[in-house]
Amino acid sequence: MPVYEFFCRKCREPFTEVMKIKEHDERTPVCPRCREAKEVEKRLSAVHAVTTKKWLTY
Ligand SMILES: [Zn+2]
Repeated sequence: MPVYEFFCRKCREPFTEVMKIKEHDERTPVCPRCREAKEVEKRLSAVHAVTTKKWLTY
């Protein structure tokens, strides 16, 4: 499964979460520190770029 990178604006902390592509489209994860989702923004990670080719088989 792909690893997505997120950033919490409230804590000013980046974090990663393993999710299915569909899950990623449908929901925003909660920040592991403050447990809130509303200040979390999605980021494109290095992992994303490296594994793009593999993703096509999902
Ligand atoms: Zn947070």
